[in-house]
Formats: sequence, structure tokens, C-alpha cells
Amino acid sequence: MKALLNIDYTVDFVVGALPCGKPAENIEQEIVRLTKVFAENGDYVVFPVDMHTKGDKFHPETSLYPPHNIVGTLGREFYGKLKSLYEGIKEQSNVYYMNKTRYSALAGTDLELKLRERGITEVHICGVCTDICVLHTAVDLYNKGFQIVVHEKATASFNQEGHKWAINHFKHVLGAKVI
Ligand code: ZN
Repeated sequence: MKALLNIDYTVDFVVGALPCGKPAENIEQEIVRLTKVFAENGDYVVFPVDMHTKGDKFHPETSLYPPHNIVGTLGREFYGKLKSLYEGIKEQSNVYYMNKTRYSALAGTDLELKLRERGITEVHICGVCTDICVLHTAVDLYNKGFQIVVHEKATASFNQEGHKWAINHFKHVLGAKVI
């Protein structure tokens, strides 16, 4: 069994409070197509979604970024066609929606346990931003010994240089397959 991590493709990260903008809008079709394929194959489809509470003075991101992905806001919902796709598959036993509060989907979450329980060794990644949450998640997966596959056409960043740098890093430093 493989897993697909669909990271942070929410309104705030595409067009909202902390947007990747056009590059993120451009991957909508591919991210939806990819998620559909994995969900239909019976692979493990995980939606790690950034979660914040308003004015959290203890959170390190509070001084770094404008408020984003605040619990209960529209900004935290999935963007575009991913929203209806998610609604259609969310009851499937191979689909897992999870909150995360740091860049990495493995920081302070039960994701590693979920992957190990299922004997998953190959983890595919898509989503935003390539050089922040996708990168930090990939680094943690690497350190824990997972094989990583990054879907380049289904990742995006507000920073083109950062995007390119991260893609290179996945390939040459984390030994990931970039497809
Ligand atoms: Zn955040």
C-alpha cells in the first residue's frame, strides 16, 4: 500500500490570507486528478491541514505570517474542486483528514503511526508550499526512512526560486523520486 499526502491545499494558501497565488491555482486539476487516482486505487489518502487559533501568542508562526487557516474559517476549507472531491471520498476507510500545527505533517501528529500500521513505505506528496510545508514534511519522512515521491506538477509555491530549490533538494538530498 502507498500513501498520498495532500498538503494544505486550502483557500488561505491558494488565494486567501497567505496565498501561493497563480502557481497554486494552476495545479488544481492535477491535484484533483492525482487524489482521485489514489483514492480509487484504495491507497491511503491523507489530508494534513494546517490549523491555527486566532492570536495564539505561543505559536512561532504568529510573528512570522498573517493569521491563516484559523479554525472554523472559510480559509481553512479545501480550494476549488478539491473541496467537492474531498466531500465525496471522506467516508472511505482509506481517507484520513488530519490537523497539523507545524510545517511538517509529522510534527506532533499520529501520521507516522498511521503509516507504520498500514505497512506503508512509499509516501507520495503533493500540495503547497513546495519549499515550506511540503519540504519540512519530506525532510521528516526522509529521516524516518520512508521512500518519497514528489509530484512536481501538483506542488506549488509563491516563490519560484524556492520551488525550484526545493525540487532539487528532494531529488539530490532526500533521494526522492520527482515525477
Ligand atoms: Zn501555519
